[in-house]
Amino acid sequence: MGDSPYEEDLQPIQGELGNIIDKGTELKTVEELEKAGLVGISWNEWLECVQWLTIRYTAGDNSPSNWTDVEIQAMFQDLQDWSYKDIQSAIIKLHSEGRSFAPNASQIIGMLNRMGVNVVLSQRKLKAHKSGSTSECKSGGEHEWFELGWLHDEYGDPVFYEACGKSVSVQTNACGAERIVPAPDSQMFAKPEPMWLEKFVDTAKGMGLPEHRIDWMLPNARPHLRTYAQHIEKYGHPQEEAVEGTIE
Ligand SMILES: [Zn+2]
Repeated sequence: MGDSPYEEDLQPIQGELGNIIDKGTELKTVEELEKAGLVGISWNEWLECVQWLTIRYTAGDNSPSNWTDVEIQAMFQDLQDWSYKDIQSAIIKLHSEGRSFAPNASQIIGMLNRMGVNVVLSQRKLKAHKSGSTSECKSGGEHEWFELGWLHDEYGDPVFYEACGKSVSVQTNACGAERIVPAPDSQMFAKPEPMWLEKFVDTAKGMGLPEHRIDWMLPNARPHLRTYAQHIEKYGHPQEEAVEGTIE
């Protein structure tokens, strides 16, 4: 790591991990990992990153303001094994290198690798862990749910998420619990069509993701995507649906 041009920026991260190791207290519980920020970027945090990129990269056909929901979600899926802090550092570094165009997911991952940061516990795994536990509000009392938006589940079906934004005070983090709910009517216009395997692969390729990353994403992030043939079997032909104007 001594030859890394990013040594300076790495120090806070290494320092943090160093402290943990020095204390001889290996992080064991998910709560401790969360507290130390050693969890994957959340959907909200990713949208903040997209916002950050949108403001700074306005040139080109593929500027962040033109990214589709599918692209933004695919990038999120690809980056979910890194922390918000590290992804933020990576995109800031990429920007400070004077790039003219917004980085794609593989370029962000390339920077994360150059920074030498480690993957962390993804939100997906975190959620799976918590689903067994009680859904008590971290901020006390009842959750205060707000609409988070649409995401494709591992089968490629769009599901609507709510999150709890309740916090004890402005200085503390929000509870951050998430749940899947029936979408409100006001959000139906934004419901994305189901994702299928070939479309996901095409989108990922279109974003410039290397093959090995796509190969990794499919079993890890999207283990049960339907093939196009299976999609048609379940949902009918996409064009026919458009004519009928139905989504289900
Ligand atoms: Zn809550």
